[in-house]
Amino acid sequence: MEISLEKAAELLKKSRNTVALTGAGISVESGIPPFRGKGGLWETMDPMEFAHIRAFRNNPEKVWDLLLRTMKDVLEKARPNPAHHALADMEKTGKLEAIITQNIDGLHQAAGNKKVIEFHGSFARIICTDCHRSLPIQELFLEELPPLCTCGGILRPDCVFFGENIPEDALYTAQEYSISCDLMLVIGTSAEVWPAADLPRMAKNRSALILEINPEPTSLTPISDGLLRGRAGELLPQLVARVQG
Ligand code: NAD
Repeated sequence: MEISLEKAAELLKKSRNTVALTGAGISVESGIPPFRGKGGLWETMDPMEFAHIRAFRNNPEKVWDLLLRTMKDVLEKARPNPAHHALADMEKTGKLEAIITQNIDGLHQAAGNKKVIEFHGSFARIICTDCHRSLPIQELFLEELPPLCTCGGILRPDCVFFGENIPEDALYTAQEYSISCDLMLVIGTSAEVWPAADLPRMAKNRSALILEINPEPTSLTPISDGLLRGRAGELLPQLVARVQG
């Protein structure tokens, strides 16, 4: 059900424990394409060729090449947009407990949020598949692909590929926040990727309200308590201004 900004602001004002779940859509206005939907990466490439752990294990060189061509530049140039800044304001003023993000772009932290659970890891770090040494992506030596660790192991991005488990810490912390919140803002996610898509459902089962911000309805919309239909970068600052004003 679509609702107005006024109604959404009322829900937010009443909430004592708001948590945000964000997805690729919140970073679209920062110039990072989403996977699904209009302009999504999947219009031009097969996700199983670069986003599945099997693809990485079978041919790490090809996956690294694709990731570097499609993601590295885009992520390096991207800056937080008004939606990221609005969430940072909410945390500063005590109106937001935490953000659970499916994004690997680091833009919530760049905007100033401190409590950010990176559910799918981060593209800012790389790890060795053998010795598990972790290093910033800036230290990646790209003369040859796949990049190798000093121990000889293959380096990989510290993100969760399809077919992999969510790191335990991130999973449990996200579940804790989801079952304890009374309002979950679900922003820019198609809610198609599991187990992330389960988090709003867990919150709902514990009687939390679900408020979506998305230009399109999603599979979650039938159980959500309201859809603010439009771009996060336009709607979130207006919503926060109404709550603070
Ligand atoms: P998705 O690509 O499946 O869906 C994007 C959603 O965002 C859609 O529902 C779309 O309608 C909505 N959207 C588009 N523009 C928007 C805007 N301006 N404001 C608000 N919403 C907007 O994204 P997902 O659900 O996050 O799942 C994709 C997976 O891909 C995630 O697990 C994530 O790790 C990964 N991913 C991350 C990034 C990133 O880090 N920025 C980018 C692409 C994909």
